[in-house]
Amino acid sequence: MKKVIIIRYAEIYLKGKNRGFFERTFETNVHRVLKGIEHQFIKQSGRYLVKDFCDDDAEIIIEKLKKVFGAHTLSLAYETASDMDSIFEAAKLHLRESGTFKVESHRGDKKYPLTSVEISRVLGGKILEYAKGKLQVDVHTPSFTVRVDIRENGKALVFGEFIEGANGMPVGTAGHGLLLLSGGIDSPVAGHMMAKRGLNVDCLHFHSYPYTNMQAKEKVVDLATILSEYTCGTKLYTVSVTHIQEEIHEKCRPDFMITLLRRFMYRIAERHALRIGAQCIITGESLGQVASQTIEGMTSSNSVVETLPVLRPLVGFDKNEIIDRSVKMGAYETSILPFEDCCTVFLPDFPAIRPKMKDILAEEAKLDIEDLIQEAFASIEKIEL
Ligand code: ATP
Ligand code: MG
Repeated sequence: MKKVIIIRYAEIYLKGKNRGFFERTFETNVHRVLKGIEHQFIKQSGRYLVKDFCDDDAEIIIEKLKKVFGAHTLSLAYETASDMDSIFEAAKLHLRESGTFKVESHRGDKKYPLTSVEISRVLGGKILEYAKGKLQVDVHTPSFTVRVDIRENGKALVFGEFIEGANGMPVGTAGHGLLLLSGGIDSPVAGHMMAKRGLNVDCLHFHSYPYTNMQAKEKVVDLATILSEYTCGTKLYTVSVTHIQEEIHEKCRPDFMITLLRRFMYRIAERHALRIGAQCIITGESLGQVASQTIEGMTSSNSVVETLPVLRPLVGFDKNEIIDRSVKMGAYETSILPFEDCCTVFLPDFPAIRPKMKDILAEEAKLDIEDLIQEAFASIEKIEL
């Protein structure tokens, strides 16, 4: 009997006239993650089926599908003819050795001769007889459930569990954003959250080579690769801010290093975003987490971005909440590797916590901003993941 995987979708279901656009994007994303694995992908009413794969690939396919935004739940099922004997044969493959069970049935095909209650009763009876006392029915707290779904095409799907999908909206349905990706815990989580709402996310990383090392860069490549599993393809760009940091260090107040560097980062990010067609900038800032993440700090960096919104999905999160999400998306182990990013180079002992705009502008007047941006911009590299 052939295994199939059922995909039920999440919020897409609520879409009205433009549901087709969301479905097509979801289908494209599934095709992308399953590229290279033999399978058929079939749309049914309100769900999809992945079929005709090699049985050994089932787990790999499920792991990949769990990362595709737009899927609410998944189930590993057997597809059979819809007569009760065939359904029973499929149900046997879901049984445990002993314990309690119940049968839940659903009839997509309303012309089917039995009602859902009757299907459950007949199948439950067959299972009890077959188990010879090793299994008992418990409809309230069973140790496992056998589920039957009679489809309109004369087939039945028989399955056990609902596996939690990634939920959210298909990546690509909400536009395109540029994530400022550091090597830390927060920014990959911020990218993941915005991808979950349907944004296609590319990444920009600022480095201070040779003050920062190649391992720091590899770590960022690894983080972008992890994110890319959810975005069905993320591009990573890196840019050197070494000379900018040297100039600030040489000419400006030390306590303004981070504030001034941030403003350069945002300026470069906006230009790069516009160049690649991204419609917003995403960062991993969370209010009050560190000295530069005050309202004044955010005001100072926002004010150099002229045309795009800056999205900060973590702004109201505690560090623990962010760590939980980082663990869940599989980035945490990589994020906590010790390699430094550029913000730690020339770090002042006491950074300005509430920088005043007139002081920021006075410090920036000591720098040739446009030349420094042009120079940094010329160093942008696209990294293959
Ligand atoms: P993260 O955990 O993402 O590194 P953080 O808590 O260390 O964040 P900051 O260093 O203040 O906080 O950085 C705030 C945000 O600025 C980051 O989440 C990221 O979006 C962006 N950022 C910081 N450093 C870099 C960098 N080297 N390259 C790209 N973006 C950066
Ligand atoms: Mg950081």
